[in-house]
Amino acid sequence: MTDASLDIAVIGAGPAGLAAALRLHQQGFRPRIYETVPELKPLGVGIDVKVYGSKEIEELGLLEEFRAISVDAKDSIFFNKYGQEIYAELCGVHMGYLHEQRFVHRGYLQMLLYRTVVARLGADSVVQGVRCLGYTNHDDQVTLDLRDLAGNDFQATADLVVAADGIKSVVRQQMHPEHAEPVYSGITMWRGTTLMKPFGSGGTILHIGAPQTSSMIVYPIAENFEGTGKVLVNWVVEATREESVEDWNQLGTVEEILPYYDQCDLPYLDVQQMMRDAREVYLFPLIRHEPLETWIDGRVVLIGDAAHAMYPRGGNGACQAIVDGAVLAAKLATIDDVPTALQAFESERLAAVNRIVMAHRGEGYEVIRRMVEDRTGGERFTDIEDVLPLSEADAIFSKYHALVGQPRPGYEAGAATGFRTEHANR
Ligand SMILES: Cc1cc2nc3c(=O)[nH]c(=O)nc-3n(C[C@H](O)[C@H](O)[C@H](O)COP(=O)(O)OP(=O)(O)OC[C@H]3O[C@@H](n4cnc5c(N)ncnc54)[C@H](O)[C@@H]3O)c2cc1C
Repeated sequence: MTDASLDIAVIGAGPAGLAAALRLHQQGFRPRIYETVPELKPLGVGIDVKVYGSKEIEELGLLEEFRAISVDAKDSIFFNKYGQEIYAELCGVHMGYLHEQRFVHRGYLQMLLYRTVVARLGADSVVQGVRCLGYTNHDDQVTLDLRDLAGNDFQATADLVVAADGIKSVVRQQMHPEHAEPVYSGITMWRGTTLMKPFGSGGTILHIGAPQTSSMIVYPIAENFEGTGKVLVNWVVEATREESVEDWNQLGTVEEILPYYDQCDLPYLDVQQMMRDAREVYLFPLIRHEPLETWIDGRVVLIGDAAHAMYPRGGNGACQAIVDGAVLAAKLATIDDVPTALQAFESERLAAVNRIVMAHRGEGYEVIRRMVEDRTGGERFTDIEDVLPLSEADAIFSKYHALVGQPRPGYEAGAATGFRTEHANR
């Protein structure tokens, strides 16, 4: 049924655009990507690839290559600001899922997808240094307005445009000129990486402190990084800050956030030392983008962050972006009429992803840390079971995992899911 002659233009070579190109290619199409940067570089810090994200990567035929650049997520442990343990759960296959949860450097994942696109679709399938300025829909085609690095404007036509141009998407702005301006939440993320000794199981993700005032997430994203014998550890601190610039590459320093962890005594690592030893620190504000009512205008469709920018918590932004390409390619392969295929894509994805966008604004399962903070009045506890029973925490986690499309194995049958480690009640 695939119409291989369908001329598809993809805007943006981030994870969404690259994964979509690979999925379209699997279905017999040969899309062309236009990317504004002159040369893709492995930018960013860590991404927590959930089990449904790993499934997508496996279906792209990239599991072995992905394993080589990422770390198997084994366990996830939650602490209050003093470093007292609240809750723990296993991750991925260790929890009984069919697929792995893995931690990866965003730039390494992007470069893996990029190399694969070039290998499978040809070097001319990714045109770098070309910025999309806008589009015009015609009956059976779309004209794209493009600008090269020298500032020359030119046009290209396509039967279909897939806009994967990220949080500041110009295509989204043209499609939804009346849409509400994004609003800064007042909370900024300090995102850093540190080269250090392995901690915990080697695949442990730590969640520390009270959400909104001193929340920290720490996980390894590369083992034996560049032959050093050390792991590259990704850490993110969320705290309030007045200024905000929505730019992934904005540099920051740790001085403002170190004092939040004066009293933090973890069994695994010294978080202040880890922050002081950072190789790089970026700032990224949590910006509220209101969910869109449609991702389609004629023969133009939004995917990834362009369609559903969400707080970059828990890896769902990247994973949902990768799922978009799979669903879109499957609809285009089975439904001849392009606008009808786009509608089928949107019907399957939009409401479900918008629910995740909204859920990310709340605390998700991280709410357990605030519950403990509230219930103890910010003081140390003696027995965590008196403050937050395991069964109460389990119910919260099971609800969240189901929401993002990966219900916990065996939970419906009453299987025990969460636990506490030997470090609990220190
Ligand atoms: C530099 C950078 C660093 C990031 N770091 C992190 C991180 O550390 N952790 C995290 O969770 N998420 C990070 N992200 C975001 C993360 O990649 C996305 O949330 C998620 O993977 C969805 O990807 P996406 O492809 O939709 O968007 P993006 O990854 O933002 O990719 C969009 C792509 O479109 C290109 N583009 C934008 N406008 C145009 C245009 N007009 N014409 C042509 N091309 C255009 C951009 O250059 C970019 O390559 C980062 C994004 C960027 C761009």
